[in-house]
Amino acid sequence: VDPDCLFCGIVAGTVAAHRVREDEWTLAFDDIVPQAPVHVLVIPRAHIRDITDLAADAATSTAVMAAIREVVLQLAVEDFRVVFNTGVQGGQHVFHVHAHVLAGRPFTWPPG
Ligand code: 5GP
Ligand code: ZN
Repeated sequence: VDPDCLFCGIVAGTVAAHRVREDEWTLAFDDIVPQAPVHVLVIPRAHIRDITDLAADAATSTAVMAAIREVVLQLAVEDFRVVFNTGVQGGQHVFHVHAHVLAGRPFTWPPG
């Protein structure tokens, strides 16, 4: 737990969030500024900085991937986009790794 981390605060319950799904390893909650009709953030409970560090932890990686699958099943979305913004240039603002799960509208490519 990083006391300065916003998403650690959501895990701890000191920062409010609308929780969509949770298990022993992960938490999924609605993004506060949704970019699509469905915009859920899936995070490990552990404070892990980004997808590079997450990838070094096989058990937690698997848990996050499984949680993404469970969220899309729970929300009954078939077409969706999963994004891990990484680093400042990659558009990452919160340095507690999170998968953006976006659905409910068409998405363009290339991304902005
Ligand atoms: P990033 O820019 O790091 O990829 O994504 C951070 C995401 O966290 C953004 O989409 C932003 O809207 C969301 N966010 C920032 N602060 C909060 C908050 O306090 N609560 C929730 N639920 N989402 C937040
Ligand atoms: Zn954190």
